[in-house]
Amino acid sequence: MLLFDTHAHYDAEQFDADRDTVLAALPDQGVALVVDPGCDLPSSRAAVELARTYPHVYAAVGIHPENCGGYQGEPDLAALRVLAARPKVVAIGEIGLDYYWEENPPRDLQRRVFRDQLALAAELDLPAIVHDREAHGDSLAIVKEFPQVRGVFHCYAGSVEMAQELVRLGWMISFTGVLTYKNARRAVEAAAAVPMDRLMIETDSPYMAPVPCRGQRNTSALVRYVCEKLAEIKGISPEECARITLENGKRFFGIE
Ligand SMILES: [Zn+2]
Repeated sequence: MLLFDTHAHYDAEQFDADRDTVLAALPDQGVALVVDPGCDLPSSRAAVELARTYPHVYAAVGIHPENCGGYQGEPDLAALRVLAARPKVVAIGEIGLDYYWEENPPRDLQRRVFRDQLALAAELDLPAIVHDREAHGDSLAIVKEFPQVRGVFHCYAGSVEMAQELVRLGWMISFTGVLTYKNARRAVEAAAAVPMDRLMIETDSPYMAPVPCRGQRNTSALVRYVCEKLAEIKGISPEECARITLENGKRFFGIE
């Protein structure tokens, strides 16, 4: 079974002690491909560097809403443009809105940075990887301002109706280990409602480890638990689910 973990942060400090060991082991653990999205300029640079080093790793570059407090506008966009031109950069991300944390940058700044990076995705003809936490209405409204951009809502947490609208708009929906949690009824319902050709799986490593590893540091090897849960929801075999989500991810990110 070959799996595509479409979202994992190997540039994160949680991997400082053993990053190379973890990444080098993935192909033997059934993980064929990984996309590492940046969360600010240094982490985007690190993601590009990891993609250069490992044949199975690809990168996305972007500024995460939690990290947009010091946003400079055009100089930051220019830096992202340079990074996006590097080999194996397959998306702009992760970008979006996070209204969950009180201490996050102001919402109007988050919306400006999100819009600027969706415009960059349109300009560069790259897909977008969107983080939407407690900001479903604004996230959907803003992506609809950019009908030329296609993307994915990662770690999907919205409603069934919103998922169906995103699918109509040509977007993808991606699920993490949250799908395996006891209280994940909403995510399970959304996964059931989205057509199989619009689904991707991910770990969001080092966070969001699936059951039975919940609470531990996550790695892409655990994406198989997400695959197994999605297969169960869809009534297909894990092998079939792995094959389809791998194909979906390759098509979406334009890999091979
Ligand atoms: Zn993430």
